[in-house]
Amino acid sequence: MSRTLDPFLRRQLADRIEFYRELGIYDFYRHPVRSDLGEMAAEPSHPNPARDELSSMTTTTVSVGAAEPEENLFSSPKPEAGVSDPARALQIIREDLGACTRCRLHQQGRKQIVFGVGNPQTDLMFVGEAPGADEDEQGEPFVGRAGQLLNNMIKAMGLRREDVYIANIIKCRPPGNRVPERDECETCSPFLLRQIAAIRPKVIVALGAVAAKTLLALNAPMAELRGRWYDFRGIKLAVTYHPAFLLRDPRQKKEAWKDLQRVMKELGLTVPATHAG
Ligand code: URA
Repeated sequence: MSRTLDPFLRRQLADRIEFYRELGIYDFYRHPVRSDLGEMAAEPSHPNPARDELSSMTTTTVSVGAAEPEENLFSSPKPEAGVSDPARALQIIREDLGACTRCRLHQQGRKQIVFGVGNPQTDLMFVGEAPGADEDEQGEPFVGRAGQLLNNMIKAMGLRREDVYIANIIKCRPPGNRVPERDECETCSPFLLRQIAAIRPKVIVALGAVAAKTLLALNAPMAELRGRWYDFRGIKLAVTYHPAFLLRDPRQKKEAWKDLQRVMKELGLTVPATHAG
């Protein structure tokens, strides 16, 4: 049976296949076609980047895969499996990470691992890119200038920093704050995925392109990544600008605020009538 994929879905699939190729995975096996997926592919109102951004934001969820295959047949059971207390599960994951030497960053000047911080029972998780100098010094994500802006964004949502959970794609500072390499993201992000699985927030906000592309295994510009809901293993995921980018281009704050208002609506938080951002 021939099916016509809309261009957005086709591109997602192409990106996903490319991503697996880069991991050295070439063979794919088809599961029986699920009728709900078939409907989604044929759905005429499926998001189209060329179409109105805002209207698709609240109404459509794009199903995408995470960076790690959902059922990785080759991985051993996780030590936190079966632990229902998220705080305990996070502790176990942290212990499993240990004094990590899994990638080159442990030899490139990192002072400490920056695991994550916040409420293990939260509905809302923010994921950034990588620790910077301040985070490396203090062992906590988003404590520098970008962190202060993130705190203000959280406050604007009517929340406190300690109400949410904050982590990064990678847990060690790259030298000179360079962008993390792909293999560093691939080595480190499984720990983040386990943190997400332990916390199971209602919403994840990916801060910036590195977080979004790594979590979604999509290679698209921010303009396309923002403005829609993604289904990340059953958790709603939204993409917004990285606070460090907003510090460089404050005019984009109102766009980020639109993203956060959508998140607030999803979480049932009261959206203020006006907020200049
Ligand atoms: N930028 C990030 O992406 N993460 C941090 O923890 C700090 C700055």
